[in-house]
Amino acid sequence: MDHASQESLSHPEIRAEVAKLCARFPGDYWRRLDAERGYPTAFVQALTESGYLAALIPEEYGGAGLPLSAASAILETIHAEGANGAACHAQMYIMGAILRHGSPEQKQRYLPAIAAGTLRLQAFGVTEPSSGTDTTSLRTTARRDGDRYIVNGQKIWTSRAEHSDLMLLLARTTPRDQVARRTEGLSTFIVDMRAARGLTIRPIRTMMNHNSCEVFFDNLEVPAENLVGAEGSGFRIILDGMNAERLLIASESIGDAKWFTRKSTDYAKSRVVFGRPIGQNQGVAFPIARAYAQARAAELLLHEGLRRFEAGMNCGEEANMAKMLAADAAWAAAEACVQTHGGFGFAEEYDVERKFREARLYQVAPISTNLVLSYIAEHVLGLPRSY
Ligand SMILES: Cc1cc2nc3c(=O)[nH]c(=O)nc-3n(C[C@H](O)[C@H](O)[C@H](O)COP(=O)(O)OP(=O)(O)OC[C@H]3O[C@@H](n4cnc5c(N)ncnc54)[C@H](O)[C@@H]3O)c2cc1C
Repeated sequence: MDHASQESLSHPEIRAEVAKLCARFPGDYWRRLDAERGYPTAFVQALTESGYLAALIPEEYGGAGLPLSAASAILETIHAEGANGAACHAQMYIMGAILRHGSPEQKQRYLPAIAAGTLRLQAFGVTEPSSGTDTTSLRTTARRDGDRYIVNGQKIWTSRAEHSDLMLLLARTTPRDQVARRTEGLSTFIVDMRAARGLTIRPIRTMMNHNSCEVFFDNLEVPAENLVGAEGSGFRIILDGMNAERLLIASESIGDAKWFTRKSTDYAKSRVVFGRPIGQNQGVAFPIARAYAQARAAELLLHEGLRRFEAGMNCGEEANMAKMLAADAAWAAAEACVQTHGGFGFAEEYDVERKFREARLYQVAPISTNLVLSYIAEHVLGLPRSY
């Protein structure tokens, strides 16, 4: 990639501004929320007011109309500064389903309010307890009844459900045994959770502060006008947004890797044991250097994915590989950071253990490493489908 295209992807002014915003929310802010499993309302509010969460919404709907690389720069910076974008990153990209597949009325109804921050579309209801990664086996149903759909079933790991007004829901509208292909018969809906009856949300306590929930639907009524795209085309609509999601999650992992590496090098230079800085020992320096090299390689792949995405080219290979390699690099950097800090790596006040717990997620969600490897094996290398 030439220097000019690298520059256009890096958005230095956005990075500088986001870093300034994050400085208002230092480690003790995140530590306190982590302890009480609280939601970072003030941080999300500040990001909303600054327009960052509306970066990808076109200007005609009140957003900033920026390219995906700008959203990547925002999320990477949030993570590189020690904060956590997981509390709100979905507000940036779930709306893409409405933007690409919604009716003109849906776009007018939702996008300006999402851009203004008066409407939160943070919840994405795909995963279910019994089907897991096998999305097309999901059991939640939406049955058409006049001018509405009746939804029954359960979702799990619906992050931010308690802090969102709307949920993008994937449900089965035609039974699996009545469709030619298992990817058919699924539909996507906008569920307004504010006044919904027949909707129960239960938070799940996890090893990190993530505000993820179980959501139960018991004869929930959804107006037929909230169907996004054609009935039965929901799986395609969800797939359509996945490359963008993977590139953005890769950006967060790159940010994590940078944060860990900075912490590690600072500490390795200043901590003196046996009369010399611990970073002088290659046993300490090499894991940090190796993780740095891994993160740089993943970052280049991320930039290639962003470049292809913005050029309208297929970027499935790059998005998947960047997501996997960036998550691996962040984990290598996290591991090196804990080890470099010795006992202090476990002390809450250093933030290392918190970021360590947070960084681990991205090898599992939003897609697990094995499923990325399956994608590469089958779709890139032409190996036989394994599942
Ligand atoms: C904190 C958190 C937040 C989340 N937020 C959301 C959200 O907002 N919305 C949402 O819809 N989902 C969300 N998820 C769900 C997430 O996308 C899934 O956890 C993830 O896709 C893995 O699915 P699973 O947990 O059902 O694992 P499973 O599908 O049960 O898989 C378990 C393990 O088996 C492996 N495996 C399964 N099948 C194969 C195979 N064929 N070949 C090789 N290995 C295989 C997987 O790689 C995995 O390691 C979240 C999860 C977490 C933990």
